[in-house]
Amino acid sequence: MAKKVLIVYAHESSTSFNAAAKDAAVAALTAQGCTVQVSDLYAMKFKAAATTEDITGGVKDAENFCYAKEIKLASEEGKLADDIKKEQEKLKKADLVIFQFPMYWSSVPAIMKGWMDRVLGFAYAQEKRYSEGIFKDKKAMLSFTTDCPESVYSDTGINGDINVTLWPLQNGILNYCGFQVFAPQIFWDPATGSPESRSSMLE
Ligand SMILES: Cc1cc2nc3c(=O)[nH]c(=O)nc-3n(C[C@H](O)[C@H](O)[C@H](O)COP(=O)(O)OP(=O)(O)OC[C@H]3O[C@@H](n4cnc5c(N)ncnc54)[C@H](O)[C@@H]3O)c2cc1C
Repeated sequence: MAKKVLIVYAHESSTSFNAAAKDAAVAALTAQGCTVQVSDLYAMKFKAAATTEDITGGVKDAENFCYAKEIKLASEEGKLADDIKKEQEKLKKADLVIFQFPMYWSSVPAIMKGWMDRVLGFAYAQEKRYSEGIFKDKKAMLSFTTDCPESVYSDTGINGDINVTLWPLQNGILNYCGFQVFAPQIFWDPATGSPESRSSMLE
C-alpha cells in the first residue's frame, strides 16, 4: 500500500528556499508512489496559542485551567476545536510526518510550535511515552534551513552541537509521543551558497 506522508510546513513566502525544499520533497515522494499532504500553516492562518478555545462546549475547570488535562478529556469526548481535529485526521493517516521550517532561535517558528502544542497536546501522557507513545508506529523528520554554517553548530562552534540543539524537539516532543525520529535534513545557510550549491541541496 502507498505510504502516506504529511508535511507540516511553516514559511510565508512561496519564493523561499523552504518552499523549494517542500516542493522538492512533494515531487520526490510522489514520484516514489507516496501520497503526500501538506499543512501550510501560514496559509491556513493556524492558531499558535494553546488556549481554552481549543476545547468546544466549555472547559471542565475554568478557574484552574490546565491545558494538558483539558485537552486530553476533550480528545476523549470529541470536543476538540475543528482545526485541531482536521490536523489530527491527517496525522492519523500519515506513516511519516516531515516538519519543514526555517530555524528560529535554535527551534521551530512559533506557528509550528503551536501545531505541536495543540495537535499533539493530547499525546502528552506520562503513562504512554517514548517506545509506548501514541505515535509509535509513525516516523517523523525535521527538515530545516539555517543562516549559520554547519561549523557554528558543532561541538567547537559558538552555538554548540546541533544534536544538542535539536534534542528538545526530536526527543522531548517527537520521540516522547512515540515517533521514530529520522536523522534531520539540514540545509545549512542556503542564502550564502552559490545557485549551484542550492540546487544540489535540493537534489
Ligand atoms: C526570529 C528568527 C530567529 C532565527 N534564529 C536562527 C537560529 O537560531 N539559527 C540560525 O541558523 N538561523 C536563525 N534564523 C535565520 C533563519 O533560519 C534563516 O533566515 C532561514 O532559515 C532562511 O531560510 P529561507 O527559506 O527563508 O531562505 P531564503 O532567504 O528564502 O532563501 C535562501 C536563498 O535560496 C534561494 N532560493 C529560493 N528558492 C530556490 C530554488 N528553488 N532553487 C535555488 N535557490 C532558491 C533564494 O532566492 C535565496 O537566495 C532566524 C531568523 C529569525 C527571523
